[in-house]
Amino acid sequence: MLESLKQKVYEANLRLVEYKLVLFTWGNVSEIDRETGLVVIKPSGVSYEKMKPEDMVVMNLDGEKVEGELNPSSDTPTHLELYRRFPEIGGVAHTHSTFAVSFAQAASDILCYGTTHADFAFGSVPCTRDLTKEEIEGEYELNTGKVIAECFETREIDYNAVPAVLVRSHGPFTWGKNGSDAAKNSAILEEVAKMSYLSRTLDAEPANEHIQKKHYFRKHGANAYYGQK
Ligand SMILES: [Zn+2]
Repeated sequence: MLESLKQKVYEANLRLVEYKLVLFTWGNVSEIDRETGLVVIKPSGVSYEKMKPEDMVVMNLDGEKVEGELNPSSDTPTHLELYRRFPEIGGVAHTHSTFAVSFAQAASDILCYGTTHADFAFGSVPCTRDLTKEEIEGEYELNTGKVIAECFETREIDYNAVPAVLVRSHGPFTWGKNGSDAAKNSAILEEVAKMSYLSRTLDAEPANEHIQKKHYFRKHGANAYYGQK
């Protein structure tokens, strides 16, 4: 079932290693087949060297395992909540990359200091609120997804324009049109976080809104003109 999607998700997970975003078994990527509503995700706790495409686990959006010998990533309920709440995304990635985690641990948004960020996201990458004691002791991973969605709703941030979030005291989740796009966005987020960190140490001011808009809309939306048609 979904063999070609398993291969794609397997390769997207390896991208996290290639981009130097994960150590050991940390991190996970998933992708959804919107026609069937089935999600393919990395298995839990299997090393990247030993992992095979057929180890990928197939889940439905109700959180039931549809196919796979292994248990899915422990973060699966977070991924599934993001697919339910953000209906236009096709892939989700999660890492503990150093600079993005540092902002999450500082409970700080990543402000836009320049065009590298503006090409990637329109405005700040938000940091969520803390999960409550009840949310942590209850369905923790599901509640992590709920807190992400709540962050975008209450702050009226368009998840299509900002494909990343920092979960406070934890780390980044990113998304995209598929799993490999989500993994790529994890790499871009880490680079943007590093630049933002260094800019802050140099007392930088956020980029003005004109340059932010110019760069974002040059690459995204109906009037984009960057790259080849
Ligand atoms: Zn994590």
